Amino acid sequence: MYVNRVEVSFDAAHRLLGYDGKCASPHGHTYRAEVFVRCNELDDLGLAIDFGDIKQPLKRWIDTHWDHAFLLNDRDQVLITALRVVSESKLYLFRGLNPSAEVMACVLFQVMQSEISCEPQSVRIWEAGQYAEYRPDKEQDDEGALP
Ligand SMILES: [Zn+2]
Repeated sequence: MYVNRVEVSFDAAHRLLGYDGKCASPHGHTYRAEVFVRCNELDDLGLAIDFGDIKQPLKRWIDTHWDHAFLLNDRDQVLITALRVVSESKLYLFRGLNPSAEVMACVLFQVMQSEISCEPQSVRIWEAGQYAEYRPDKEQDDEGALP
């Protein structure tokens, strides 16, 4: 088995609704998203998967949805209402969930499942030198990872 890894950096803001501490304040990070893809065989060129075939859809999706955006819990109505006053604000809303690195990793894993030809193995979201990783528990159904 081969595992290929691709990384994309992006800047975004978030806050954790209901958190007792600094993360309740809107703040930003330079995030890194790492996607690990598993392939069993090599093609005639000796490639498991072309790195570009992972990186292009990953970068396109992140540029469209997360880069320079506010990543928010859709229950965060006070902040959503405030940001919508600023027409240039880009919002990405997580349904009923906080935009933690864990939740972001799970969402991005599901996105990559539909965007690339090989099977994603795991996704890491790096936030200030630490990361959360999502990988499906093979003993459970891959569907419905998020509540
Ligand atoms: Zn943060």
